[in-house]
Parts: sequence; C-alpha cells; structure tokens
Amino acid sequence: MALKGKTAVITGSTSGIGLGIAQGMANSGINVVINGFGDPEQIEQERMALEKLGVKATYNGADMTKPEEIEALMEETLTLHGSIDIVVNNAGIQTVAPVDEFPPEKWDAIIAINMSSSFHTVRKAIPAMKKQGWGRIINIASAHGLVASPFKSAYVTAKHGIIGFTKTIALEVARDNITCNAICPGYVLTPLVAKQIPDTAQARGITEEQVKNDVLLAAQWTKKFVTVEQLAGTALFLCSDSAENITGTHIAVDGGWTAA
Ligand code: NAD
Repeated sequence: MALKGKTAVITGSTSGIGLGIAQGMANSGINVVINGFGDPEQIEQERMALEKLGVKATYNGADMTKPEEIEALMEETLTLHGSIDIVVNNAGIQTVAPVDEFPPEKWDAIIAINMSSSFHTVRKAIPAMKKQGWGRIINIASAHGLVASPFKSAYVTAKHGIIGFTKTIALEVARDNITCNAICPGYVLTPLVAKQIPDTAQARGITEEQVKNDVLLAAQWTKKFVTVEQLAGTALFLCSDSAENITGTHIAVDGGWTAA
C-alpha cells in the first residue's frame, strides 16, 4: 500500500519527536496534521517547511487535556484532508518528584495528555479507518512503558497504560486492516528531557552533568541518545506493508535499556 497521499495526524508535533516524525512522514509523501503548543510564528514556519516537502500540512492547536478539542481536531482533519489514515499519539509531558510531593494537578495533566488523549484520537479515527479499509495507529510510549524509574510515578503509570491500550485496540480492529503498536524510545535529547535534568538533579542531590551520564544514559547500553530520525524511521516501518502483521506490540528503541 503506497503511503504517498495518505494523511497522518501527529499529536504534540511542534517540537522534538513529534516534529521529527512529521518531517519523516512528509518526506515520504504523507500529508500531515501537526499539533502542539508554541510560538504561532514558529509553528507556521514549521508548517510551511513541511509543505515545501510537497505535501499538504495543516496545524490544529487542540489541547490534549480537552476531549472536545481533540474531537474537533479529528473532525477538521476529515474535512481538510478527506481521510485519517495514520494516527501518531505522541503528545507528552513530564514531572519529576517523589510521590508524596507530586503535585496532584500534574498527575492529572500527565494522565490526560500522555494516556487519555490517545483514547480520544483513536475513538474518532477508527470509524474513518474502517470505512477506508486501512489504518495505522502508533502510540509513542517509552522505555518507561516497560520498566519504572523512581520519581516519575504519573509518567510511568501513563506509559504502562498506553501499552495496555495498544494491545486492546489491536485486537478490536485486527480484521479491519488496521494495526496498533507502540514505540518505546529510550532517552532522546528533546526539550522534554532537557527540562527534567534540573529537577532530577534536585530530587537526587547530584549535578546536571551527573544526571546526563549517570542517570539518563546509565541504562542505555549503547551510551548514545536515541535520535528523532531513528524514531521517524521506526514509525514509517510500522506504516509499511512489511509491518502488516505486526500489531498489539511494541518496538523498543532504547539502546538495550529494557533488555537488561
Ligand atoms: P517535547 O517536549 O519536545 O514535545 C512535546 C510535544 O507535545 C510538544 O509539541 C508540545 O507542544 C506538545 N504538548 C504538550 N502538552 C500538550 C497539550 N496539552 N496538548 C497538545 N500538545 C501538547 O517532548 P518529546 O521528548 O518530543 O516527547 C514526545 C513524546 O515522546 C512524549 O509522549 C514523550 O513521553 C515520549 N518520549 C520521549 C522520550 C525522550 O527521551 N525525549 C523518551 C521516551 C518517550
């Protein structure tokens, strides 16, 4: 099945991994809907850069904590693009704190953005995918969907949850030519990771340099950060015909972290 001309919704794609996946998809001729927060001028520049790759690129600023805005994003995609072929649930945030000091409003936001938003995109995408007889759902989980680290209770909970969601949806749509998988990245040096370095240093009482070398890359056996290009390539593989029978599972792109 040619990917050229298909339409992908990528949540949280104004930055980091989501933007990298949007660029990878656009490079393969896939029309993209980008989403996320940021400076409107910068987002417009990113959108125009994607269109320069020869695809249709639109932006919708839906807040992933708001189900009605997510519904509107999916409906607008159908109106502007005519189909929803690929959904990449990528938007995510992080807070690092011991559980007894974890701000309850941050817990709620992480569960909403990193987990429940995928329910809202998927429930709106599946009828369109069933109608057209093809679909790919890719959930950007994390190595923290498979194993835990201290001080990340909400994040680890949400990412484990999204793996369970992935398996369930895969079974529900298995006969509809729709696959649903998760990608579990190790550490990628995006703004999300850069922002948690000072908090982790404070929570553990160590320097920021020690956080990079001794915490972030401690479990990454390759001693290399994962790149957004590698994750875009993995997402495109999951959209390819070779991956037609890969569903309800995850691909770890984590430098060996979860093998140990
Ligand atoms: P990032 O901070 O660079 O990008 C996050 C994106 O989500 C941004 O576009 C931001 O605007 C958007 N976003 C945040 N809150 C939103 C909301 N309420 N509504 C809509 N959009 C919102 O982060 P990243 O590192 O690129 O992370 C992307 C995904 O990859 C996340 O789900 C994250 O958990 C996961 N991940 C990241 C790493 C890593 O090391 N960076 C590792 C494993 C998994």
